Amino acid sequence: MISRNLKQLASDLQWHKAEDSIYGCAQHIPCTIVEQSKSIAVVFYLPHIQEITKEALDSYFTRHASRFKITNLEFSDDFYFFRIKQNLIPLAKDKIMDLLLIASNLIQENQPESVAFCAACGQPTEPDELGLYLGFYCAVHEHCPALPDAAGNVRPADLQINMDGEDIIPTDDLETENLRQ
Ligand SMILES: [Zn+2]
Repeated sequence: MISRNLKQLASDLQWHKAEDSIYGCAQHIPCTIVEQSKSIAVVFYLPHIQEITKEALDSYFTRHASRFKITNLEFSDDFYFFRIKQNLIPLAKDKIMDLLLIASNLIQENQPESVAFCAACGQPTEPDELGLYLGFYCAVHEHCPALPDAAGNVRPADLQINMDGEDIIPTDDLETENLRQ
């Protein structure tokens, strides 16, 4: 079950809801937010990520880890994961929106014209060929030979973010031990 916080976020963003996650596009980049009991993971699908993009994300979100309660950043199998601590108080919806906006901006600045590749077979896809693969939202062929039961015809709305939020305030309060485990 997803929390009220994430349900509301999904409605605000016009994202889809699943059992334990919400998913949609953040400025055309497929993204999933998975909820667990004491954490959430924000997961971007970034096949063929360039080193500069990864470094930009690592660098920015390591510096701002405490602001977003980030405990871990990881790139694995074409997915970039932000792990966020949620104990009694969930991370505010506005902060998750900020994270999505900042991360997708960093990705687009460093990797402007990235071609989409199917998560199942690795071949190029059309820009709107998106679906769930292993529970994560990503580019995937609607009729992928590697995946007979591909996720269907999801047509996500683009991320709509309120730009009137607070400014990003740098913080020295790093949690680098946690980030570098
Ligand atoms: Zn495919």
